[in-house]
Amino acid sequence: MHVIIVYALQKNTHAQLLTKAIESLETGKDIDIVDYYVCDSCGFLHASTSELKRCPGCGADKFKLQKI
Ligand SMILES: [Zn+2]
Repeated sequence: MHVIIVYALQKNTHAQLLTKAIESLETGKDIDIVDYYVCDSCGFLHASTSELKRCPGCGADKFKLQKI
């Protein structure tokens, strides 16, 4: 989970996702049905309810996306 926060801060984007992640930590509950992916190539953080085929940020193939 710390990795997510570092990525989000570095990119200075995805503030809503970061807020949700922090809320999730504070409440001790997982966020329902949403999976989080971080791209190894560009650091893009994405929340999705379905498996991604490509990175929405840089277009890297899905094997670059780490489900977290
Ligand atoms: Zn990417």
